[in-house]
Amino acid sequence: MKPKTSIQKEVARLNARLPQISEAQKRYAFRHCFEPIGRRSADGRIVCTECGQSWQGGGALSETLCGARCPHCGTELKIENTRRRVFRETAYYGIMTTRKGYQVLRFFLVKANRRVGQPAAYHIYEVVSRWIAPDGRNVTLSRSRGIAFLYYDLWIEDSPMEVRRRNHRSYDILPACIYPRVRYIAELKRNGFTGDFHRIPPFDLFTAILSMPPYETLLKAGQIPMLHYMLQSSASISEYWDALKICLRHGYIIPDGAVWRDYIDTLRYLGKDTRNAAYVCPENLADAHDRAVAKRKARCERERLEEQRRTALAAESRYRELKAGFFGLSFTDGIISVRVLESVQEFFEEGEAMHHCVFGNEYYLKPDSLVLSATLDGKRIETVEVALSKLNVVQSRGACNADTEYHDRIIALVNSNMPLIRKRIYA
Ligand SMILES: [Zn+2]
Repeated sequence: MKPKTSIQKEVARLNARLPQISEAQKRYAFRHCFEPIGRRSADGRIVCTECGQSWQGGGALSETLCGARCPHCGTELKIENTRRRVFRETAYYGIMTTRKGYQVLRFFLVKANRRVGQPAAYHIYEVVSRWIAPDGRNVTLSRSRGIAFLYYDLWIEDSPMEVRRRNHRSYDILPACIYPRVRYIAELKRNGFTGDFHRIPPFDLFTAILSMPPYETLLKAGQIPMLHYMLQSSASISEYWDALKICLRHGYIIPDGAVWRDYIDTLRYLGKDTRNAAYVCPENLADAHDRAVAKRKARCERERLEEQRRTALAAESRYRELKAGFFGLSFTDGIISVRVLESVQEFFEEGEAMHHCVFGNEYYLKPDSLVLSATLDGKRIETVEVALSKLNVVQSRGACNADTEYHDRIIALVNSNMPLIRKRIYA
């Protein structure tokens, strides 16, 4: 994209004038981004994947545990017992510098290609550079991203470094190593940065402490797990700031950001005072969290049961209002008996016994439906629905909605007793 705003134009101009990566910077990357490997084959011979030379190894166990030094090039090697012959790795490398008051983060992709019997081959090129002003405003330049299955192979090497309008997670790089000759703008030091990234992507850390005072405060107070969590999660720090201030005032270092946040959410649910140090600064966070969560669970369960009882009660009185006039109505042909369901509880039992939806679909609340249970020797066989407005059988269902051999007989029985139902309507 062509730079549009004045800051984008300025950064594009300055970026074009950055020096190429130096030989010393490259050498450092090749040596420190990867762990050099000594490949030991079954006969105990070790090949150095740095220089390609080999020698006969000694104590297998100590070499595997402690590594070995290559007698040819002096490289400290991690020993791997493997038949692999090719070792390919990629890593990100960072150079931290400053230009015209901007903090500049330059990220390079480093590729190592090491084959048994050959000296290692390395390749490096810049992929992303991020420019951060002292107030946190920033501009990102990068190479084009290709379509790739592997995150690392994302960058098209021969595309130009261009200003990017939108952020993308692939710009948020946590480099495997950073060139030790670093330069930082004074505002970062002023806002609490001492050179340690605490495993936070540098861009995230810098923009946060430059533009959002709560993050600066967390860093200065050594609240690293919390800072880490807040920057990685979608939580809004302002929602927790009152509780965090209590921790800061009491010198309480939160040991785990995610657990503490969930704990605070739980305290809120339980109606506890999240400005009270006794709650928000527990000596054992994990225990306090687990206790609070258990309480929340118990309360949820109580509330659920209460809710169920309330709706059932409400439905019960509603059902009584609608259908009390039909209670006690029953008839039989000598073999099959049919009777009106007289409570919501009976709907529930009918639905459970017959595995159909007479309860779930709330037939007890339908004004026009009269639901009756047909039984044989006291055993439920079908459930019958009569439309009161039309005085006909809408449906009669056996277990799992299947018809029984008594199906037609039940319908005939109900139809022949329709006058009894009609009488109740006009009673
Ligand atoms: Zn070597």
